[in-house]
Amino acid sequence: MAAACGGRGGEPRDNAVVKSAGFSRAPFGQVDGKNVFLYRLINARGMEVRTMSYGATIVSLRVPDRNGQSDDVVLGFDTLDGYLAPEPYFGAVVGRYGNRIAKGQFTLDGTTYHLATNNGPNHLHGGVKGFDKVVWEAEPFDRDGRSGIVFTHVSPDGDEGYPGTLNARVTYTLTPDNELIVEYSATTDKATPINLTQHSYFNLAGAGTRDILEHRLTLDADRFTPVDSTLIPNGEIAAVEGTPFDFRRPTAIGARIGADHPQLKYGNGYDHNWVLNGTAGQFRHAARVEEPTTGRTLDVSTTEPGVQFYTGNFLDGTLTGRSGRVYKQRYGFCLETQHFPDSPNHSAFPTTVLRPGERYQSRTVFAFGVKKD
Ligand code: BGC
Repeated sequence: MAAACGGRGGEPRDNAVVKSAGFSRAPFGQVDGKNVFLYRLINARGMEVRTMSYGATIVSLRVPDRNGQSDDVVLGFDTLDGYLAPEPYFGAVVGRYGNRIAKGQFTLDGTTYHLATNNGPNHLHGGVKGFDKVVWEAEPFDRDGRSGIVFTHVSPDGDEGYPGTLNARVTYTLTPDNELIVEYSATTDKATPINLTQHSYFNLAGAGTRDILEHRLTLDADRFTPVDSTLIPNGEIAAVEGTPFDFRRPTAIGARIGADHPQLKYGNGYDHNWVLNGTAGQFRHAARVEEPTTGRTLDVSTTEPGVQFYTGNFLDGTLTGRSGRVYKQRYGFCLETQHFPDSPNHSAFPTTVLRPGERYQSRTVFAFGVKKD
């Protein structure tokens, strides 16, 4: 079946939409002279995922509400053009290093590496041409009632200033239970930092319909990493207790977002890394979101030590997304499962260094459901 869609690295034989039980493929434009394809995964319970090979990006994700009504729950664009701008990374896989590295600099095994400073004084999401801006090879699969795509990308030694040839793989699997499984793996031939994450902006009420402030969020995290005014962790691991960062019980995202707290001022809202409870490396529940009007729910589980919860603070109504819907401030939230920001410059944080002979592996599951009452 995969052969019908072209093998890894295979070029399309024609422009026809290729259909099968669990997935189909259609051309979606070209970048750097390479064809970009849009893949559609479907399951029997009405969930549909559209993902493209540019940036291994999730373009749309339709899930039913409590009345069985499907809507798109991620922000995105109708055409490839919208995705070419540097920001805001709608749905993309970001890397090599998702999140920030202070002043675009780190020292590893005695060598100092210099990266692009594409976010004020800092490096963000892998640089100017990060993993969100390249065309990945894609191989769809459909087995045991699960359909998915394996995206692969070889990042050359020195890419965006990072050391080592990195072979990266991201697999999306849609299950019959309305889960999207995201698995990352990578190997390198020189020591390099790596921190891959998924940058979808969710809105369980329906993308572009309203803000996300009434969504109720639970984060399984007793602590977070406070930042300076440029959103670089100051090294502290602080308790959430008694702060607007305490989401240990379901709380409306908007309930305290305007509170007079210096960390909320730095982030212009929530734009912080929470330290997830439990053992990093072990797959465990991390977050739950409930949207009261539609009943849609999202549970996030991960092997990662942290999650960046970002409330779309920099969306400002200048982007028009899918179906002509305007994306205003706080119209989407991200739950970016990851290692902590700026880890290459914080030896006390869990390491992000991958060495030759090792395999980077990470797994996150986005499980969608409905709450009936
Ligand atoms: C960052 C935000 C940034 C957004 C889009 C998030 O991961 O934490 O500060 O604005 O990505 O780039």
